[in-house]
Order: sequence, then structure tokens, then C-alpha cells
Amino acid sequence: MGATEATLGVIREMAAAMEEHRGYLTKLDSEIGDGDHGTNMHRGFQAALERLDGAELNTPADVLKAVSMALISKVGGAAGPLYGTAFLRASTALADKEEVSGEDVAAALEAALGGIQQRGKAEVGDKTIVDALTPAVEAAKGAGGGSVAEVFRAAAAAAEEGAVSTVEMTARRGRASYLGARAVGHRDPGATSTQLLLEAAARSLGSE
Ligand code: ADP
Ligand code: MG
Repeated sequence: MGATEATLGVIREMAAAMEEHRGYLTKLDSEIGDGDHGTNMHRGFQAALERLDGAELNTPADVLKAVSMALISKVGGAAGPLYGTAFLRASTALADKEEVSGEDVAAALEAALGGIQQRGKAEVGDKTIVDALTPAVEAAKGAGGGSVAEVFRAAAAAAEEGAVSTVEMTARRGRASYLGARAVGHRDPGATSTQLLLEAAARSLGSE
């Protein structure tokens, strides 16, 4: 399978994960936000699938760019523009490559994190997407010599730990920051969707 097809497979698996876990993400967001994160992510990935359907896609970067445009244009709230920026930066990092290595994936994830931090100004410990994606990038770089599937597996495992680490945090960014100490004891929805997206990518690429 070519890298463009593989990237499409990753996005389809991500969309399926956002459908499957819509209720869970919304429940997490109703505890420390406004209860729309699952709906937002589901809507965004459905829009991405629609945009990909029939689009001319020659490279993995073309796929990621189409996803970015769908997320930015169809998802309100904080997470849509943040994830949209992440996919756009990942697309730019892959440029016109027709094949993608584990190192390329690690670089694309690092670029995605850079975009989210530039736009959202969150640091590790603020109880956001950044708490899952930062350890994921570190793990991906550590596994960069491996296959694309190995890199995503390492990133997903680290993202899960990162998402779990948000339970004990107070939030310094996003809606949950209005809650102060009341956010402690609740897992961050955005860090959790990052974990689920990376797990979906790893699953879609199989056991290579
Ligand atoms: P909204 O908060 O506008 O309702 P969502 O519910 O879709 O948007 O997304 C909420 C998630 O967005 C939070 O759980 C958090 O992980 C993430 N988030 C919010 N602000 C930021 C930020 N500045 N940087 C990174 N992630 C953020
Ligand atoms: Mg919300």
C-alpha cells in the first residue's frame, strides 16, 4: 500500500474512533467544560471524510491538509482550530514526500505540537492537548528509527500516560481554567482525544 492510501486509512480510523468515543469525550467535557468536545471532534472528522471523498490526493500531505481545512472550517470551540493547525503543520512538515518514514512521522508530530503551542500558548502541566502530545512527540522521536507503525505505537502509549497525568492537574488554559481546583480529579477531554487519535493511527497501520 502506498503512503497516501495508508494516510487515508489512518484518517478513517481516527474518524471511527471519534464516532465510537463521542459520548465519552462529551462526558469528560461536561465535567470540566461545556460538554461539546465529543460532538465537536465527531463533526470535524465527518467533515474531513466528506472533504476527502472525491478530492485529488497525491501525497500524504494532501490528505492531512484536507483534514486541516475541514477541522478549521467545521469545528467551533477551542479544539477545532487547534487540531486544524496541528494537521496543517504536519502536512507542511511532510511537504511533497511520497513515502513516509518513522522519522518523518516523528517530525510531523513535532510540527503539529509546535502549531498547537504557537496558537494556544499552553505548556505541559496546563491540562490540555499539550499534556498528551508533548510526551507523544518525545516517544516518537525516540522510536524514530523504527517503522511508521512503531512510531505511532510509542506515541500513543506516551499520550495515554500524558492524558492520565491531566487528572491531577488544575487547568491554566481553556474553559476548565475557570474552575480552579474543581478541575482536579477530572481527565482532560482534549488530552484524551489526542490519545485516542494516536491509538487509532497505530491501529490502522497494523503490526508492521
Ligand atoms: P471548547 O473548550 O471551546 O468547548 P472543546 O470542548 O472542543 O472546545 O475542546 C476542549 C479541549 O481543548 C480541552 O479539553 C483542552 O484539552 C483543549 N484546549 C483548550 N484550550 C487549549 C489551549 N490553549 N491549548 C491546547 N489545548 C487547549
Ligand atoms: Mg467544550
